[in-house]
Amino acid sequence: MTYLMGTYAPADVVFSHGDGSVLYDTNGKRYLDFLCGIAVTSLGHAEPHVARAICTQSRRLLHVSNLFRNELAEPLAERLDRLVGDGQPAGGRVFFCNSGAEANECAIKLARRAGGHGRHVVVSALGSFHGRTLATLHATGQTEKHRAFQPLPEGFEHVAYGDAGALDAALDPDRVAALLLESIEGEIGVVPAPAGYLRAARRLCDERGILLLLDEVQTGLGRTGRWFGFHHHGIRPDVVTVAKALGNGMPIGACWAKAAVAAAFEPGDHGSTFGGQPLACAAATATIDRMVELDAPRLAAAAGSKLAEGLRRLPGVASVRGAGLLLGCVLETHLFAPAVAARSLASGLVVNAPAPGVVRLAPPLTVSDEEIDEALAILKGVIAHVAKGTEP
Ligand SMILES: *Cc1c(COP(=O)(O)O)cnc(C)c1O
Repeated sequence: MTYLMGTYAPADVVFSHGDGSVLYDTNGKRYLDFLCGIAVTSLGHAEPHVARAICTQSRRLLHVSNLFRNELAEPLAERLDRLVGDGQPAGGRVFFCNSGAEANECAIKLARRAGGHGRHVVVSALGSFHGRTLATLHATGQTEKHRAFQPLPEGFEHVAYGDAGALDAALDPDRVAALLLESIEGEIGVVPAPAGYLRAARRLCDERGILLLLDEVQTGLGRTGRWFGFHHHGIRPDVVTVAKALGNGMPIGACWAKAAVAAAFEPGDHGSTFGGQPLACAAATATIDRMVELDAPRLAAAAGSKLAEGLRRLPGVASVRGAGLLLGCVLETHLFAPAVAARSLASGLVVNAPAPGVVRLAPPLTVSDEEIDEALAILKGVIAHVAKGTEP
């Protein structure tokens, strides 16, 4: 019996506390956390700078509503703008909210507002994930997730991910307001955009006056080895959404847009009671400041290449894809990934299986070489065990 709705089928473990890359359950058992709440706690658990910022702010002011300014939202927006610009001011404006879905919801509303009457269609990619609200669910390119919730909001169309030719046909400038893409599709198994794809998307959007929206909710803030996934591709999006890692576990999301695009919103067009409130902003400010201090993208790139190299050498691993510390480990035997994730958990390693043949690894960007070696040793044993157990 549970009082919680059955929207998840949680594993049979209760975590009580953590420290850096390590989690402990209520029995005192130790785990290496190579999932980070799905790319959320990028600085590790109980990070002292973030903890101190939350404690200090909680004694000062938690909330005043957006009918008033607060001391933290404006400087946080400026920091985020600099990261979007890869260290330089990017000339954008930010709307703060509480989650990735809300950040994308804001991006979609902004695209419709900027697109004007009749130009409201948002094109996104098959295999994408953009959130669970009705609009972001329809933007999500996984039709099996749509089925039970028809009718979904109108104005969403999907194209094959990575196919520049399909974009050419789908981006009708008379109807389409925006193209919404991820630089890596995390939720269907860590599938990166092929080389040249985002550049082709940028060029087509420019030619046709269509906005390019990048969902960096999972890939953003250093995880891929650059501040944002799109930085690997040499493009500038019109709108960028972030959330997961922004508060290192404190719920906060943000929608960044070029100033000229953001200008489409007028007072009253969009809002959020909690968005940009002081406590969440304090956590996000401490997170970004610490990430800049550590040069988090550099840490992710270095640790990521060590981890990817180690994974490629494991028996039973067919290939490794992704970037930095967002990696998909493709197993030789399709359908083994859920068993590998479950057995890893029992063996003290937290990972997950976003697809039947893919194990996702997203450890803290601060993960040590020793912790990577320890995780690889656990995975090696687990994959061998699962392979043996299911042989005829
Ligand atoms: C997690 C995720 C979202 C949704 O974020 P929530 O905070 O769960 O609403 C949207 N887009 C991507 C790419 C994500 O990984």
